[in-house]
Amino acid sequence: MAKLLEVKDLTVSFHTYAGEVQSVRGVSFDLEEGETLAIVGESGCGKTVTSKSIMRLIATPPGEIKEGSQILFEGKDILKMNDKELREIRGESISMIFQDPMTSLNPTMKIGNQIAESLIIHRGMNKKEALEEAVKMLKLVNIPNAEKRVNQYPHEFSGGMRQRAMIAIALACNPKILIADEPTTALDVTIQAQIMDLIRELQNKLGTAVMLITHDLGVVANVASKIQVMYAGKVIEKGTTDELFFNAKHPYTWALLKSVPRLDTGHKDELYSIKGTPPDLLKPPVGCPFASRCDYCMQICKEEMPELTKLSETHSVHCWLQHPLAPKVEAPIIGEVQK
Ligand code: SF4
Repeated sequence: MAKLLEVKDLTVSFHTYAGEVQSVRGVSFDLEEGETLAIVGESGCGKTVTSKSIMRLIATPPGEIKEGSQILFEGKDILKMNDKELREIRGESISMIFQDPMTSLNPTMKIGNQIAESLIIHRGMNKKEALEEAVKMLKLVNIPNAEKRVNQYPHEFSGGMRQRAMIAIALACNPKILIADEPTTALDVTIQAQIMDLIRELQNKLGTAVMLITHDLGVVANVASKIQVMYAGKVIEKGTTDELFFNAKHPYTWALLKSVPRLDTGHKDELYSIKGTPPDLLKPPVGCPFASRCDYCMQICKEEMPELTKLSETHSVHCWLQHPLAPKVEAPIIGEVQK
């Protein structure tokens, strides 16, 4: 499959009163047509900064995308595009939905007009055609009574329906890439499942490539074709969904997998939480960024960033445990995560 997006050595910092926060540190990955890539990690690991960099939504200053970073969309560097080229890409080729639809929707505009806006701008439709298309989009995202709903305001929609409306806006121009940043975090669990099912269903129908940003590995099991785990601004492990769920090699990925609640978790069992806190990105550690929280930490982990170990064509990891001279450590028994 053709590569739609290639992110190469993306490095992003924020200049604050306390100093330079190195939020994203040399991140590289690619996204092919129609596939779903999940980017997983705790808050502050750099996943949202990565996705906002792709849309060029990093405010400069205080943000700074460093020289040498490249974000190629169909071979063209988004970081070098002028305002006109960027406007054409946003919404038409790459769309984004955010965690809280209430802060992304315009409360003073009818939902139909919000969907119609991008169709008028990017597709050259007149208002009547765009509103007819908006009704179709609301039906596509399973909003009942779409003809009536198209004339309503966001406050008349429930949380789940607002997120569906956001998806309708994002997909109105049939973009090649949909970036979904924690699309279900603000929703309750049953609605979360419906929204994830909807994203998967629409992806199959429309062939859109999806970049799913989440802190919850459990959310991505049924949706993603490949996963990359980020920690302290770096990708520390990546692979296909099966490689990450059944053959993870990084202690942080093991910890994330252990944190996913399972059906066999008893009601009195405590949920697993990862001890400690991520490192301060004002002064990232020289060695492995997970060292202070890792049960398998060795002296070299504190002194040198682990090299990249390729385990297969698709699976790679940064961890000294994969070095040929490292002691052999069996992956902990995590139990089957519900897929
Ligand atoms: Fe743990 Fe060392 Fe691997 Fe880092 S490199 S995850 S500290 S074993």
